Amino acid sequence: MSGDNNTFSRAVKTVAIDVDSVLADVMLVWADEYNMRRNAKITKQDIIRWDIPTVLPITPEDVYKYFSHVWKSRWREIPPTEPGIGAVTKRIHRKGYRISIITKRERPTVAYVAKWLDMHKVFADDLLFIYDAVPKANYPFDVLIDDAPKNIIDVVKPKSAILFNQPWNRDFDWPIRVSSLSEAEEKLL
Ligand SMILES: [Mg+2]
Repeated sequence: MSGDNNTFSRAVKTVAIDVDSVLADVMLVWADEYNMRRNAKITKQDIIRWDIPTVLPITPEDVYKYFSHVWKSRWREIPPTEPGIGAVTKRIHRKGYRISIITKRERPTVAYVAKWLDMHKVFADDLLFIYDAVPKANYPFDVLIDDAPKNIIDVVKPKSAILFNQPWNRDFDWPIRVSSLSEAEEKLL
């Protein structure tokens, strides 16, 4: 690795990109699902901690139940985190990087995630669905782009990680943050 704190050298080859809340702004629809079922009026901005049951009156089981429902039945409504997200992934590819989409999830949602990625023309050299508890940091990549502090925290040199800003990771101390995938693209030389 060379370069300053905000850039990565050309020696970096594989960028691992998370799906939930990095490519797909799924918690917008999750919040809508919560509101419909609970007659509530929350927004994604209210989810200020990763552990949702500590900010909303909901059990961990229901958090996952709503999440799976949103992916299985409302996947078409899930917006990308920015317009033209597929074009951004192609630009990263054209810069010479391999793109590895790495997503940890429950198996029943996998087919719908694949459909979503196709619908938004997301470029990928490989697509990895993790079902078990092996940390993402153990997978082969040079740079990880993820919104989850628990995935980012295990990433050690020579690997690097870019934290994707979301309301639930504001308090996490991490030097490299972006608010969009195109902003991450600018940091990849
Ligand atoms: Mg995520």
